Amino acid sequence: MSYSADLLKDQKALVTGASSGIGEAVARHLAQAGAAVVVNYRSEQEDAEKIVQEIRARGGDAIAIGADVSKEEEVNAMFEQMLREFGTIDILVNNAGIQNDASFLDMTLQQWNSVINVNLTGQFLCAREAAKEFMRRGVQPNVSCAAGKIICMSSVHEVIPWAGHVNYAASKGGINLMMRSIAQELAPHKIRVNSIAPGAIKTDINTEAWSSPEEAAELRKLIPSDRIGVPDDVAKAAVWLASDDSDYVTGTTLFIDGGMALYPAFAHGG
Ligand code: NAD
Repeated sequence: MSYSADLLKDQKALVTGASSGIGEAVARHLAQAGAAVVVNYRSEQEDAEKIVQEIRARGGDAIAIGADVSKEEEVNAMFEQMLREFGTIDILVNNAGIQNDASFLDMTLQQWNSVINVNLTGQFLCAREAAKEFMRRGVQPNVSCAAGKIICMSSVHEVIPWAGHVNYAASKGGINLMMRSIAQELAPHKIRVNSIAPGAIKTDINTEAWSSPEEAAELRKLIPSDRIGVPDDVAKAAVWLASDDSDYVTGTTLFIDGGMALYPAFAHGG
């Protein structure tokens, strides 16, 4: 990665679920672009602290804060700590997410609720707290032309149905209209809200889909670009959406998927 450290200079960012995978990469890229970063984790404190140390070793600014994004009191405490330590927030990356898969008939209410609570309610709770601070503080012209930026980590499954994963697909479909409704409501206040919809990205969440050569080959059949993505692919898009380079972009979903959402099975006549 190579950004001017001025790109997000003096901006404070919170990345949820940043102790691994896409969130970790996003935290590292935002720091590289000059933002001070909160690395949120649920229980992997050691991993989060290591990322913080590595960001600081490269001259950046970061702290780790533990919070379960599905719990209102923990989200509120995380924002209080961030505002105490960093003074404000300019960028929220709503990244934390889980899968808890089962066929539809076997899916328990607990499995349904666990995914909706983290993937959808967690994003609502964090977005609301960030927006309150954006509204309170307003635009600081020497920092950014926006009062704040929210980036929601969605998935290609906000549009592609996914048998055996109805809770996950419903949570991501929900993010689409949540994000666009918030974007519509907050645009007059110079708050930008967008989503990123990754395709297949090599992380812990989907190891079984790419760890053997046979499985990886099967997965690549779904990807017109014939390459499984890496967290850096997503992080670069997050930096752009967080920066003033995307000042006229709000309420949109950026697909970072090597073409996975292009119905690849129809490439040869359907
Ligand atoms: P990951 O498992 O490495 O990351 C998920 C992170 O969320 C973990 O660090 C985990 O600790 C954290 N988390 C889980 N529950 C939490 C909670 N209640 N509170 C706070 N943090 C919590 O997997 P990833 O692939 O990096 O996933 C990141 C996001 O990207 C998720 O929203 C996922 O749905 C989305 N996504 C991933 C892919 C992919 O192919 N990897 C594709 C589309 C979307």
